[in-house]
Amino acid sequence: AFDVLIVGGGPAGAAAAIYAARKGIRTGIAAERFGGQVLDTMGIENFISVKETEGPKMAAALEQHVRQYDVDLMNLQRAEKLVAAGDDGLVEVQLAGGASLKSKTVILSTGARWRQMGVPGENEYRNKGVAYCPHCDGPLFKGKRVAVIGGGNSGVEAAIDLAGIVTHVTLIEFDSKLRADAVLQRKLYSLPNVRVILSALSTEVTGDGQKVNGLTYKDRGTDEQHHVELEGIFVQIGLLPNTEWLKDSGVALSPRGEIIVDDRGQTSLPGVFAAGDVTTVPYKQIVIAMGEGSKAALSAFDHLIRHSAP
Ligand code: FAD
Repeated sequence: AFDVLIVGGGPAGAAAAIYAARKGIRTGIAAERFGGQVLDTMGIENFISVKETEGPKMAAALEQHVRQYDVDLMNLQRAEKLVAAGDDGLVEVQLAGGASLKSKTVILSTGARWRQMGVPGENEYRNKGVAYCPHCDGPLFKGKRVAVIGGGNSGVEAAIDLAGIVTHVTLIEFDSKLRADAVLQRKLYSLPNVRVILSALSTEVTGDGQKVNGLTYKDRGTDEQHHVELEGIFVQIGLLPNTEWLKDSGVALSPRGEIIVDDRGQTSLPGVFAAGDVTTVPYKQIVIAMGEGSKAALSAFDHLIRHSAP
């Protein structure tokens, strides 16, 4: 059995693996796709002390650093079920394909994914006008027209951010009012090149076969369909934590499905810790995920020295 088993191989899991292995304890990491969201990122300019890098480069560096240590790295392994420790004191993680891993402590770092609109054209035009990360892709739409889908904090922040780069922003909100903080809404409404459309259901991303050329939405008051011509669509309707597999495990989740952790990364199950985008810790960023992963590993080590037989 492992001393520490980490599930998820993004920045949080990689940091946890390195911190655990440096304690000289038996460390394993099982990941569906080692590198995580970083693999889907192009420019990274806010990883402190590294002025600029690219996602795939950072993912390769993460793997290299983990492989410096005696870590059992199991890539392309999807966890399907977690079973709390029984009399043997071991937590079990069952993998797709039938294998199962046992460990004295487990660190959950399965990350998150962007919620999609689920309308025709969205997948077809992904990275061809449909984007999810304004910080990453905003500059590609300089001088163009874009829509932001979603009027929560992230949508309104994205619209404010993009309004400084693009010629025009149309913000589409399903509800009859924006849900973002009042201070953000005030800022948004003060901008001359933003139009806000409320009570609107996005129904289709349209394009010319190569690139996005518009968005169709339904006015929920009148049921009428409208079409907006534009070049880009930023979908900002939430990040979904990858916790479906934990539903009946006893690990307490927030109403949004995030793993509830305390300030040491401890979950509701003894010996089970969590870190990164999958948790309730706010601000989903690489440096934060790494800090939280390191913290969870130190907490797991602390748990081991208190609870395991010598
Ligand atoms: P993730 O990176 O999501 O990694 C999760 C890991 O868990 C993956 O290995 C995944 O395969 C694995 N996994 C999931 N489910 C299972 C399962 N059931 N069994 C086994 N393994 C599983 N942050 C910044 O700081 N700067 C940026 O510039 C930046 N740009 C971004 C651009 C894009 C397009 C995206 C998508 C994100 C960006 N982020 C950026 C956010 C950053 O990537 C995340 O905050 C960070 O990757 C979170 O790390 P994590 O380890 O918690 O989770």
